[in-house]
Formats: sequence, C-alpha cells, structure tokens
Amino acid sequence: MDELVSLCKRRGFIFPSSDIYGGLASCYDYGPLGVELKRNVKNAWWKAVVQMRDDMVGLDCSILMHPMIWKASGHVDKFADLVVECRKCNTRTRVDHLQGAEGVETTRHSHGEAQAGADLSDKVCPGCGSTGQFTEPMAFRLMFETQMGANVDDSMKVYLRPETAQGIFANFGNVLDSTRLKIPFGIAQIGKSFRNEVTTKAFIFRTREFEQMEIEFFCRPGTDDEWWSRWKEQRMQWYLDLGIRKENLRFREHAPDELAHYAKACVDIEYLFPFGSGDWQELEGIANRTDYDLRQHQRGIRSVTRWFENRRDTEKTPLVEEAAEWHKGPLSYFDDQAREKFIPYVIEPSAGVDRGALAFLVDSYAEEEVRGEMRNVLRLHPSLAPIKVGIFPLVKKQGMPEKGRAIYDDLKRFWSCFYDEKGAVGRRYRRQDEAGTPFCVTVDGQTLEDDTVTVRDRDSMEQVRVGGDKLRAFLLEKLDM
Ligand code: ATP
Repeated sequence: MDELVSLCKRRGFIFPSSDIYGGLASCYDYGPLGVELKRNVKNAWWKAVVQMRDDMVGLDCSILMHPMIWKASGHVDKFADLVVECRKCNTRTRVDHLQGAEGVETTRHSHGEAQAGADLSDKVCPGCGSTGQFTEPMAFRLMFETQMGANVDDSMKVYLRPETAQGIFANFGNVLDSTRLKIPFGIAQIGKSFRNEVTTKAFIFRTREFEQMEIEFFCRPGTDDEWWSRWKEQRMQWYLDLGIRKENLRFREHAPDELAHYAKACVDIEYLFPFGSGDWQELEGIANRTDYDLRQHQRGIRSVTRWFENRRDTEKTPLVEEAAEWHKGPLSYFDDQAREKFIPYVIEPSAGVDRGALAFLVDSYAEEEVRGEMRNVLRLHPSLAPIKVGIFPLVKKQGMPEKGRAIYDDLKRFWSCFYDEKGAVGRRYRRQDEAGTPFCVTVDGQTLEDDTVTVRDRDSMEQVRVGGDKLRAFLLEKLDM
C-alpha cells in the first residue's frame, strides 16, 4: 500500500488536497493520470449499466436539494454513527468498527435507533489497546450542513447530499413522465456525495467527499428477489471483466440483524485490500430497499405545508401519517396492462468511484525483476488505463521525431496517447509501465526504410513489428473495449 501511495503521488495519480498548506485530512485531488483513470472507471460503469441496456436511463441531480428530501428519507433524524471515545487516549471510534463488536447496532444509514448501553466491556481501543475504557456511545451526525440565501432571515439550512440515491427517487415521476419507460427499469447516476465520517481510512478508501455510482432499479413487488439476484451477479461480473482477480473479490451477505429496517436483503461486494495484513472491505452494496423510499417521499410531499409552518425547520417537521391508500400518491406507478397502481420495489446497486479506482490500482500493481532490474507495473485493463498508447522515436534525429509525431497526431484522435522523445527508450518504457499504458509504439531506423514500427506489450514486454498502415487496426483489435 505504501509503495502504491508513493507511486500515485510521484506519477500524478493522486495528491493530498491543499498540499501546499500541509494537506486537509482525508481529502485528495486526482492528478493528470488519476483524473483519466477515474473518468475511465465512470465511463466503464456507464457503458455497462446505461449504454448497453435498454432498461436503464441516466440522471444528474443537484447536490443541494430541498431539505424535506432528507427528512423524508430518514437522514435528518437517523443518519448518524454511534461513536465512543477512549478514556485513556481520547481516540474516537465507530462502535461497529470496534474489534469483536459484531451485533452492536448503530443508526448508520437510517438503520434504526441507537443502541445506547451496548456492552463494550470487552472491546479494545484501536488507538492504545486498552480494553473497555470507553465513554457512553454518542450519536455523531454524518450530514454536512450549510446555509442557502444571503440574508440571515430568509436563509435556510440545507445539506450536502450524503448519497446520490435520493435525487433519483425525487425524480422518479419526472423520468416516468418524460420517457416511455415501463417497469422494470432503472435510473443511474454518478456524482459527489459528502459524509462527515468519524474516522477516515487508508488513502482514498474512506473520505469525507467522494463519488458514487448508483442505480435505483424499479420493479414490480414480487419480482424483487429475482432482480436482486440478477444485479448481484451482474455487478460482480463487472469487476471481473475489468480485470480484478477473482480470489480478491467476494460477496458478503448482511445478516438479518444487520439489515436496515426497510431493507429486505443486502449483499456487499468486498475486495481484499492490503490494509494491515489484508482486510476484506466493501466496494459496493446491493440492497433490496423495497418500496420504502418512494413511500417515504409520498409522506414527505404531504408534509411540505407543515414544513413552511415550522419556519423551514426539517427537524421539527413531522412526516404526515401513512395514508390508507398509498398507491394513489404521485410517486406510484400505473401498470396500464394490469390496470393497476402500485409503488414499485427498488433494487439499489451502490458503488464508490474512489474505492473502485483504489481496488483497480491495488489489484493491477506489481513490482517485478526484469533482467536484473526492478520494474513497477500497473496491469490496468485497457479501458481503465489513463494512457492507451505511448509513442517514441528511438532517437531524436534522422526524421524519427517527425514520423513519431505524425503517428501520435493520427492515433490521438481515437485514444489518449503520450508522445515522448526524451532519454533512453528503456526508461521511457518503464515510465509507461508505471502509468499502466498497455502499448508503446517505437519509431526506429527500420521505420524510415519500410514504414514498420515496433509495438511493445506492457505485460509480456514482447515487441512485434507492425506496418504503419496497419497500426491503427492492430491497436483497435487489442484495445477493443
Ligand atoms: P462503509 O460502511 O464502508 O462506510 P457504507 O455501507 O456506509 O460504507 P453505502 O452507504 O452503502 O456505504 O455507500 C455505497 C458505496 O459508496 C460504498 O460501497 C462505497 O463504495 C462508497 N462510499 C460510502 N462511503 C464512502 C466514503 N466515506 N468514502 C469513499 N467511498 C464511500
């Protein structure tokens, strides 16, 4: 992990945020290579879940939303972590992260009421190792708050969204009205989310500002178990298709006492991260959220008048009691064949872009000895590689740079390419290995005679000669993503 973090900074994948001022805890910036990698992760996801399917559409919601959204979703009242402080060293820890703390419930993700008074006498402080020396658990709110409006009198409290999902539920009716979609169908969204995490962890794994890729897949109640199983398999396959080794991935199904009160089932896709001596950690969660969210927003919509009466205070706004006939609300779905109205069930595959990017980096990183020398290589899947092709003239003379530039100008219309004419060619290959570039094209003396170039494969390091007129087709076949 340390080697990878250092490579990320050295080669411009990831920098600490505000680096010139000493950094800001748990905030990171993506550098020239990192921004390409991250964009490729998002594009690969979008292609798999939106472009390649005819039952999915995309959405891009604002980060700031009406505060009633968060009241209705349960976040205002319940989105908190239970935290204890060690009396000896003052380290704060999430109760569910204490060693051996399984079975202690927290309120995270509106999971239910805080379990104050949980037995912590045998739990160990990760800071100083002392046992059972904790304060009473306290709820630590996870939503960032800010003010909207210039004047104190008419400004109101709004939240930075802690998940992108609620924007999708809020637009369920708009999407239905503006498309011809029929259930089952899904809405996908990629965007920033913010959580004031108690403890942050391991580089970009857990940060306070991060990006999510979320799907809400709406289906008829009764078909939800089947869709949940399908999404579970399809999402696992996505990581495998992008090259993550099978032995480093697993499913972890949530036990009944771990499930959010509204969830019927939830499974995490976990990756074996090299934190400490190896640590299975969540990459993505796939939950059956039933009709909970749409129902809650039906209640929320009815409560908006009260919200105004409460002078825009979500915390004081009661949600209107459940109406007898839910299916008559604006967020219900009318099945015109069955002539029936119902509230759809929702399957939610929710993934982190940054966690995904970290897993792809970790899984592809290798240090290996080649002819007595060490090389670092990122064996990234071609569709994720920040640069697809490096183009080098062997030497800076005899017209080789001009030929190299011409190839570069042609290929960059199709892929992100990098032209480099400085230093020994072996060093240039090593730099591209470290950046994850799958192919390097070299113009040499023979090129000037017969118009062939060498193409070097990052993983096998083998070189083949390819005719200049066939180069694009050759690369297209190899980079077919
Ligand atoms: P954890 O328990 O690890 O905090 P979570 O169960 O709270 O995760 P979800 O609410 O299910 O996570 O969010 C869906 C996905 O968003 C996660 O699987 C993860 O990839 C990503 N994610 C959530 N919180 C963070 C964070 N603080 N930093 C980076 N990614 C995150």
